[in-house]
Amino acid sequence: MTSTWVEIDLDALAHNARTVRKLAGNKIIFGVVKANAYGCGSVKIAQCLVKNGIDRLAVTHVHEGVELRQEGIEAPILVMGPTAPGDMEILLQHELTPTISTIENLQALAAKVRQQGYQKYPIHVKIETGLGRTGLFPSQVTAMIEAILAHPEIYLEGAFTHLATAATGNRTFVHHQVAAFREAMHYIEDEGVNVPIKHVANSAATLAYPQYHFDAVRAGTLLYGQNPGVRTKEDIKLKEVWSFKTKVAHLADLPAGHGVGYGRAFIAKRPIKIALLPVGYVDGFQTEPVSVPVGVWDLTKVLLKATAAYFRVGNNARVAHIHGKKAPVVGKVAMQFTMVDITDIPNVKIGDIVDLPARRTIINATLPRVYKSTEEEKQKQKQVATN
Ligand SMILES: *Cc1c(COP(=O)(O)O)cnc(C)c1O
Repeated sequence: MTSTWVEIDLDALAHNARTVRKLAGNKIIFGVVKANAYGCGSVKIAQCLVKNGIDRLAVTHVHEGVELRQEGIEAPILVMGPTAPGDMEILLQHELTPTISTIENLQALAAKVRQQGYQKYPIHVKIETGLGRTGLFPSQVTAMIEAILAHPEIYLEGAFTHLATAATGNRTFVHHQVAAFREAMHYIEDEGVNVPIKHVANSAATLAYPQYHFDAVRAGTLLYGQNPGVRTKEDIKLKEVWSFKTKVAHLADLPAGHGVGYGRAFIAKRPIKIALLPVGYVDGFQTEPVSVPVGVWDLTKVLLKATAAYFRVGNNARVAHIHGKKAPVVGKVAMQFTMVDITDIPNVKIGDIVDLPARRTIINATLPRVYKSTEEEKQKQKQVATN
């Protein structure tokens, strides 16, 4: 039995879904449940989102959509990444909606669609407007539309692009990308083809660019309770869905001058009490920044943060909580163990629950997810009472 787990608050998720609904008005909402629903567990999350008014779901890879179908989820599912020709059959079997960025890909799909006898199989096309990942350049759109029109078994349900700077405050580039997207949409309409579902907005744009909601928004981050880092006029209240927990496994008193962990990266300046936590980098738990800085300002920020961490100030990524009080991580995180300083927290006992800081998407997917919902509990109790 593992003593480290991820706890998911389904009431918070439902609350966030209602918040996104308010932001998106009557537009379609794609609940993005890629990457195991950002570490929350995709099946439970998808079920809860659908129950709480999220119209459709979106994933990156075919296999992520297949998993949802196998668990009985019936909502439309958009596969936002490219699908390999060899995976088209499985995509069709599970009625997943593909994103198409090349004519070869369209033809691979169309061949399978004909073979399986589908009429009007929906696709979305992706437009490259500046992220530099996948998509048709606006200049390639006309050829794609002609190819689609040559395949009456295929139906263009939607078109989208993905913004590179919606969360970074570079508004000029957002406007530039949307202008390129609109240009591509004009090329499609010039071919006499209507695009029912046009979409560009991720969470940051759902918040900061209501003028760019088009027909649908694709929200992930907001649903899981985090602001993607944009300031807004109205105060929107999101609730944290995710928490990472473990239990104290061992306690020790160390004299001043004693080192903690590999490399003796931490030396006690005073007599301290430490708690050993049974969690380490094999679980995806890490407290060091990993990303490469972009530009001089970003580099400056990284250096400032590293300096602050060196002096042990302001680095929340290195602070666990026990009994609601701060327990800073000391020394390096090891493969399966982490030490925290509990000198200032009275009465910590072996087995006490610890709240861990974490980058949720890299926490090991095999750790147990525990789902909590007081709403559902209440409903169940009501049902028992009336039976
Ligand atoms: C991940 C992703 C989203 C959702 O992004 P958030 O910022 O988490 O809302 C939307 N669209 C695409 C194409 C994505 O890959």
